[in-house]
Formats: sequence, C-alpha cells, structure tokens
Amino acid sequence: MSCCSSTPQTPVAKGSKPPWLRLRLPTSPVFAETTGVVRGHDLHTVCESAHCPNRFECWSRGTATFMVGGDHCTRNCGFCAVHTAKPLALDTGEPERIAQACARMKLRHVVITMVARDDLSDGASAHVSECILAARKASPSMIIEVLTSDFNGREEDIARVLEARPEIFSHNLETVERLTPSVRSRATYRRSLEVMRFARQTAPDLLMKSGIMLGLGETDDEIRATLSDMRSVGIEIVTLGQYLQPSPNHLPVLRWVTPEEFSTWEQEARAMGFTYVASGPLVRSSYYADAVNLESLHAARSPTLPL
Ligand code: SF4
Repeated sequence: MSCCSSTPQTPVAKGSKPPWLRLRLPTSPVFAETTGVVRGHDLHTVCESAHCPNRFECWSRGTATFMVGGDHCTRNCGFCAVHTAKPLALDTGEPERIAQACARMKLRHVVITMVARDDLSDGASAHVSECILAARKASPSMIIEVLTSDFNGREEDIARVLEARPEIFSHNLETVERLTPSVRSRATYRRSLEVMRFARQTAPDLLMKSGIMLGLGETDDEIRATLSDMRSVGIEIVTLGQYLQPSPNHLPVLRWVTPEEFSTWEQEARAMGFTYVASGPLVRSSYYADAVNLESLHAARSPTLPL
C-alpha cells in the first residue's frame, strides 16, 4: 500500500492551506470558562505556547493540555513554537494549581506535558511527578496522561515519572529517523525509542503512546519504519497529524497530507497492532486524548506485547 507517490522537497506555496485545515472559531461559552481556569490558576498550556490549531475546539470542549516546568524551553526544535530561553526556577506551587484546575474543570482525562529542562539535573522529573501526584489526589478517578521530554535518556528520571503512576506514558518521536536531526534539537530518534523501551519494561501495565507529524518530507517507507519501530518498543497508541509551520522561522511544510491518506495510515497502523490510532490533519498528541477507553485498550492488548 502506498500513501504518497512522491516526496516533494520544496515548501508548499504560501497561502495554499487546504480547506480541511481551516480553523474553527469558539462556539461555546465553555471556551471562556476554560480560559478563565487557565488564567486564574496561572498555568501554561501547550495549546497556546505551541500555537495549536485546535485550541478553540478543545477549549470549547472544556479540555486543555497543561505544560509544566515553565514556558521557557531549553531546546530549540525546528517544528515547535514553544519559546526557547533561559528557564526560570521551577514554580513549586504549580502542582497544586494544576490539581485545582483539573478539579475545577471536572476533567475525566488530563494531559500533562512539559518543556525540556536540560538545565536541571533531574530534567524536572520530580516536578512532573509532583504534578501527577497532586492531580491524582484532587481527582482520583481522572485518567492522567503524561507526555515527557527524553530526559536526555536518564533512566532514573523516566522511572521517577513512572513511579507517580500516570495511566498513559507518552513520548513523541515527532518525525522519521532521517529527519530527526533537523526537526528535534538535541534529541535523537534512537534515544527516544530507548526512552519508550525503558518505560515499557519498567511499567508494563501502563499504556504507552507516541506520535509523529507528517508533511516534513518523510517518505511512505520511512513512516512505515517509524511505526514499526514504535511497535517494537511496545507503543500501543499512536497519533499522526499534519505538521503546520508555526512561524516563518520554523521548518517549512513540504506537503499537505490529505484526509484520505491519513485514513489509509490509520488502517495500516491498526494492521500493525496499534490498539488505538488517531490519524488526521488536525490530530495532535493530545487532540481528543479523552476519547481513549482505557478498559478496552487494556483488553485489546496483545499478550505478546514487545518488552
Ligand atoms: S490538540 Fe492538544 S495542544 Fe492542541 S488545543 Fe487540543 S488539547 Fe491543546
């Protein structure tokens, strides 16, 4: 099966955004309420910091993805709009405010992500862990999904986050191996796979998730190899979405991937054994993250899940 016949190496024309990527504006008063909770608790979200196209939709549904550890990232990835700057000291009140915001929003499922904190000896793993524990205490039945940095591959930091027992541990490959050096700063494809392998081995009962963006110049075979690599380290949930250039200073979009192609990738990923696949132009790793049904995913687990 082939999804795209060629791989263009020149950027798409300016202003050529296809109709399926047109933004939807806020449609419900819940948008203002979500904004109020985020501002009122002085929290950062990746929805805003990464200029996510789905913000109006997600916030109108009463969901948001909290970004902890500050809003200054120590890395400078070619795809990401999160501000790169010298980070500030960790905000020790953040875990409790995250917890209060989750309770106030009555979330059934929260995604907590983080900036890379290469300046800290533990990569902010203890802080992330505290955020999970505080959110758990305030909302015991809420599903907690954590999307982490690679912690420079330090197993003790990954283990520290796993010890807080999120239901879903997520780490994004973001792109195929060949493109990783230009897309992700100071990260390597192989190290990210090892992060996932270690997490899977350390906490085999947690669900594991990863994701990639399409439209950066990857070939079909490279996408297939990436999905296969994810499966080989035990990833069960995968997201595939269109890369969008957040500013002219970021990597250009080389291709608009059609909804039909995303649907073909969804079928292919399912055939490869992923138990949950979200694949579509506007899919981001946290887009409709609450749509996963944990019980059915656990039930659908392969008894031969790679370890
Ligand atoms: S897709 Fe994720 S990052 Fe984007 S607005 Fe929705 S919750 Fe926020």
